[in-house]
Amino acid sequence: MKKTYKICCLPGDGIGPEIIAEGKKVLAAVGKRYGVDFQCEDALIGGAAIDACGDPLPEETLAAARASDAVLLASVGGPKWDSTDPAAPRPEQGLLRIRKELGLYTNLRPVQIFAALADASTLRPEVIDGVDMMIVRELTGGLYFGKRERFYEEPGAGAAGAPGQRAYDTLEYREYEIERIARQAFEAARKRRGKVSSVDKANVLETSRMWREIVHRIGAAEYPDVELEDVLVDNAAMQLISRPADFDVVVTENMFGDILSDEAAQITGSLGMLASASLGDGVALYEPSHGSAPDIAGQGVANPLAQILSVEMMLRYSFNMGEAADAVRAAVTAVLDEGWRTRDIADASTPADRILGTAAMGDEVA
Ligand code: ATP
Ligand code: MG
Repeated sequence: MKKTYKICCLPGDGIGPEIIAEGKKVLAAVGKRYGVDFQCEDALIGGAAIDACGDPLPEETLAAARASDAVLLASVGGPKWDSTDPAAPRPEQGLLRIRKELGLYTNLRPVQIFAALADASTLRPEVIDGVDMMIVRELTGGLYFGKRERFYEEPGAGAAGAPGQRAYDTLEYREYEIERIARQAFEAARKRRGKVSSVDKANVLETSRMWREIVHRIGAAEYPDVELEDVLVDNAAMQLISRPADFDVVVTENMFGDILSDEAAQITGSLGMLASASLGDGVALYEPSHGSAPDIAGQGVANPLAQILSVEMMLRYSFNMGEAADAVRAAVTAVLDEGWRTRDIADASTPADRILGTAAMGDEVA
């Protein structure tokens, strides 16, 4: 019997339907080569879902996602659904809700250089040579989810200072939240070069001291084969620029991960080529890092490579098909090395006959 996987496809808005078609095309090619049956079924999310039923994440879509083996998302949003009415449904709410409903507490963002596009980086070639890292960001805890408040305060009797505003945010983690993200990082490292850099601020923050203790405990007990180093977040910000090729897996809490993943993406010069995965304990979700590009929607010129690289991640992380994932990556690399470009990654030196539309680029990779 042929192995079968059910994939819930969410085309969403803007260029979403165009690029997800190319993701499916590549999946079909992989299925044929490796004898696997990928059954893709579309469901509505974002603006498309608002138009159809007034809800950016219809119950049917959530049920389809839960019943699937993996979710492939393209992109949501666009000016059509911008509204001055704060009560109007927004496409992005569909994305935030599906992450929450599926319990996706880990965000994986690979940062890799495609040699053919390396000129687009602002860093020197010898610095970015060999850059291939994975940022593992905790996605559902920390400062972004803690208690926060802002209020007006009178100074106490005899106290110095004028009356004024006061605000606070709370950075909180529970042991199990750190344990599970640490395991995701160690698992990712085992599928890569076997090294984890854990980023914290343990010289100042209590949450970071606990983070460091727990990461080391999990590492020693369950992943003695994986190398583990601690890096303070300020130092990590410098090292990402000075020696990015030395990082393999970088694991960190929510806000540090938010900041460092944008910094790391920028060093590649291939922002529009990056994919991401959001993982929990069940179904995982894969998507390109870029948005719905409403300015070029429907023209057949969008770059499908980030979507295709999200398929690579799906093969690797949801289906344990490492060899097939490597083949997809190799195909993308080869197509770029042969000089094929979509408009967004072409430059003045690209011959006109090497510039492809969305479907033609998907065909090349497939
Ligand atoms: P979001 O807010 O949804 O994260 P954004 O509004 O910041 O996204 P995008 O929708 O990613 O930005 O678009 C930013 C620019 O990049 C636009 O000019 C868009 O045309 C271009 N762009 C984004 N993705 C692609 C793609 N896959 N192919 C070609 N151009 C793209
Ligand atoms: Mg946008």
